[in-house]
Amino acid sequence: MDAGAVAMDSEDGKSYSSRKEMWLQEAGEDAETSRDPDLNKKDEWYQNGIKYWTGVEATVDGVLGGYGNVSSWDVMESDRFLLDVLSECMPDYVRGNRHLVALDCGAGVGRVTKQLLLRHFHEVDLVEPVQHFLETARRDLKSHILESNVIQDHSLHRVVNFFATPLQNFTPEPNRYDVIWVQWCIGHLTDQDFVTFFLRAKVGLKPDGLFVLKENVSKCGM
Ligand code: SAH
Repeated sequence: MDAGAVAMDSEDGKSYSSRKEMWLQEAGEDAETSRDPDLNKKDEWYQNGIKYWTGVEATVDGVLGGYGNVSSWDVMESDRFLLDVLSECMPDYVRGNRHLVALDCGAGVGRVTKQLLLRHFHEVDLVEPVQHFLETARRDLKSHILESNVIQDHSLHRVVNFFATPLQNFTPEPNRYDVIWVQWCIGHLTDQDFVTFFLRAKVGLKPDGLFVLKENVSKCGM
């Protein structure tokens, strides 16, 4: 994409003539050179993100910005997509003889883990920087697994790790995951931090593992 041709609006309504200018002003990062970023600005960028979510109630409606009602549609489409790619890329998934592990990134209150990932994966890890979201996920997922009749054999489907850290600081264990799922949170990372996270995520994947990025895109405006 021609970065020079794009105008962007930041949360507080400022507009920029290019992606490069936006990142420079907002997060002190020059996305096109390896010039050292302005670390104070970058810190401020990430702190603002956390500050925003810290003030949001720890519910599905909260993490979806008041659009909790889209959750079941979102999960239905993700389910279809996941079944397709797992069947195509991991034939032993279909035969049911593969132990599957997933990572839910920017997991919020564990919505994606609870409604999608736990039904397909034997182990799920969550990474989420906002403490009250992660605590809610921990409580809710524990009772969900105990009560669920969707999950046939509870001992075979469990949440293993709750990592209380932002993605820009997270390094997955090498070769652990069949799927790394990143939904509705990647916009928090600067371009450079996304690229470096992506490279670390690759190491966290099994050789035929999949990196799934689900985001909303718009044809015009923000
Ligand atoms: N993926 C979840 C939550 C989406 S809301 C879902 O679809 O239900 C966006 C989430 O990104 C929030 O939980 C927020 O705390 C998290 N987040 C904010 N900054 C982040 C960062 N730097 N790294 C990872 N997650 C971040």
